[in-house]
Amino acid sequence: MMAAPANTTPGLVCAHHHLYSALARGMPAPPRTPNSLREILEQVWWRLDAALDLEMIRWSAMLGALEALEAGTTAIVDHHESPNAIEGSLSAIAEACAEVGVRVLCAYGVTDRHGRDGARRGLAENERFLRAGGRGLVGVHAAFTCEPETLAAAAGLAADLGVGVHVHVAEGPDDAGAARRLAGLARPDWLLAHGVHLADDHGLPGTILHNARSNMNNGVGYARPGRFSNPVALGSDGIGANMVEEFRLSYFKQREADVTATPETAWSWLENGWRLVPEARADRVTWSYEPMDPWHLAFTPGVRPLAIEVGGETVLRDGRPTRVDPVEIRARAAEQARRLHARL
Ligand SMILES: [Zn+2]
Repeated sequence: MMAAPANTTPGLVCAHHHLYSALARGMPAPPRTPNSLREILEQVWWRLDAALDLEMIRWSAMLGALEALEAGTTAIVDHHESPNAIEGSLSAIAEACAEVGVRVLCAYGVTDRHGRDGARRGLAENERFLRAGGRGLVGVHAAFTCEPETLAAAAGLAADLGVGVHVHVAEGPDDAGAARRLAGLARPDWLLAHGVHLADDHGLPGTILHNARSNMNNGVGYARPGRFSNPVALGSDGIGANMVEEFRLSYFKQREADVTATPETAWSWLENGWRLVPEARADRVTWSYEPMDPWHLAFTPGVRPLAIEVGGETVLRDGRPTRVDPVEIRARAAEQARRLHARL
């Protein structure tokens, strides 16, 4: 096989995203300063997701997909929650990403935080979307916000549909019991986001999704993903989808804990995204820098894509998207962000 030019790579994969969080930037400060992940969830994310409607979901996904493309990321594994706009939410996200030209795997994060009926409707949205041919997984928010019956129902639905489950696992101390709660349910095609508070020998099969920057932002500690026997892939947890930057942060976080670490480990985690979205490996990104090599990229901020082909179609040319107008997307997303913030 002929070697690819040194300034090209396949399309990068963001293995854990929350596209709806694109509208959170600049939101009003919570009533009091959260001092734990639990309080950050309660006072920021669970207030924000409850205020989302389908129009906001659509434009947050358009903005998130645009930002992914502008960073050379051609595939997003999204995890979505909008308890007051559940039905149709996954289609709104999938359609927005398709318009921009970015691949997406959708999941609705099922939870019992809004009662049994909320959990039932979340499961139904996963099922509706996947049975209609949508690409994705069954989503679960986290073991600590679900009853055992809900976890079993989500696992059963995923097995019936031949897909995995995308779930937050032991991101913070509140979910430290996740390995016990998910034991016997998890399978190798599950995606386990975070794993910060998992034991080294936690016993869950599946891919660990490492979100180095988000974990720093939430002060939950270093996940040390290299200690697991599971494959590891990289996500942004909703802070954009610049995966070269997430690779870089993952490397520095690892290096801070172990000065013998090399960028090749974090780069291999980035490459594991292609196990989750194999088609992205055939996408082609031409970059502003060469060589696109881990030892160079760890120490070269600001590398950006010049051109991108997804499925053979040019979706970015001269650094600009071909299918959509970025100025319009940013304006419409800002308008929806103002509507959303006014509800908080
Ligand atoms: Zn997350």
